[in-house]
Amino acid sequence: MHLARFPRVKLCHAPTPLEFMPNLTKLLGGPQLWIKRDDCTGVATGGNKNRKLEFLMGEALAQGADHVVTQGAVQSNHVRQTAAVAAKLGLKCTVVLEHRIQTNDPDYLESGNVLLDKLLGIDIEYRDGGTDMQAAIEAVGERLKSKGTRPYVIPGGGSNATGALGYAHVALELLAQANEMGLRIDRLVHATGSAGTQAGLVAGLEALNSGIRVLGIGVRLPRERQEENVHKLAEATAAKLGLKGGIRRDAVEANCDYVGAGYGIPTEGMAEAVRMVARSEGIFLDPVYSGKGMAGLIDLVRKGAFGKEENVVFLHTGGQVGLFGYRDFFTGAAA
Ligand SMILES: *Cc1c(COP(=O)(O)O)cnc(C)c1O
Repeated sequence: MHLARFPRVKLCHAPTPLEFMPNLTKLLGGPQLWIKRDDCTGVATGGNKNRKLEFLMGEALAQGADHVVTQGAVQSNHVRQTAAVAAKLGLKCTVVLEHRIQTNDPDYLESGNVLLDKLLGIDIEYRDGGTDMQAAIEAVGERLKSKGTRPYVIPGGGSNATGALGYAHVALELLAQANEMGLRIDRLVHATGSAGTQAGLVAGLEALNSGIRVLGIGVRLPRERQEENVHKLAEATAAKLGLKGGIRRDAVEANCDYVGAGYGIPTEGMAEAVRMVARSEGIFLDPVYSGKGMAGLIDLVRKGAFGKEENVVFLHTGGQVGLFGYRDFFTGAAA
């Protein structure tokens, strides 16, 4: 797995820490719970998208792009990180935000990620929920091209085979850390959405013959579709890396029992997880992804899914800025 063959812009503060969570481990009575701090990747308050953007922006610059276009939900972390990296690299940026959640909540619509997007001075367009967002950004790309600019269009979540290389790289980084620390990792758990994080991790960990099983906790789609998306992208990533033999279907595992009513809609389990990790470890999770991911991990621990001596690493994918878009949920009458 030779990642230096691909264009890359180094952006991340890395390696990110791999830390033990003694208090959460004690609170839940085991397994041994660790956390990989990809909320601390640096640019624009960090998060997993910066990992993908190293390779996506590498490709954009290699192609001579002067403008990046991407999309996400209104409180998209991916959009915020992409916009910040574009600013850093001197590229113009246009984003298309989908009203994926029906709400008039001013915090959701204007605070959190949206506030930071606006500080970055990018062009923001909005679309109704249910819009074909990939088609929308391709249309924006065509419009920009017709005006003589050179756009580079990044899919939602930065999830294509190029972006997923960022997480194949994290597989290398994590394994090197584990080997250095003498830490046998039994399980890696994280929130999975647009699939690039899990696809890159699975491709990388399989290529390295690590024996580490990855479990994605879904935040949007039902299990079958989520696993299909991850597997398809893991195969594409493996092919891009020149790995022989493809990716076993059973290397891709997602649990989508913790989505609740839908993408970005809070659940009680998420609220409990956010508070529990804040109050035991002083670490903030986010309401849309890592909070639901941790809610899944906590529930599975309670159901006895892991041995007490197993080492389970939770990949913190960032997104805490989104908490400010959910002020009412955490502090309002319902809280
Ligand atoms: C995008 C995102 C994820 C999901 O990663 P995918 O690669 O889209 O599956 C998880 N956590 C946070 C905070 C994110 O912003």
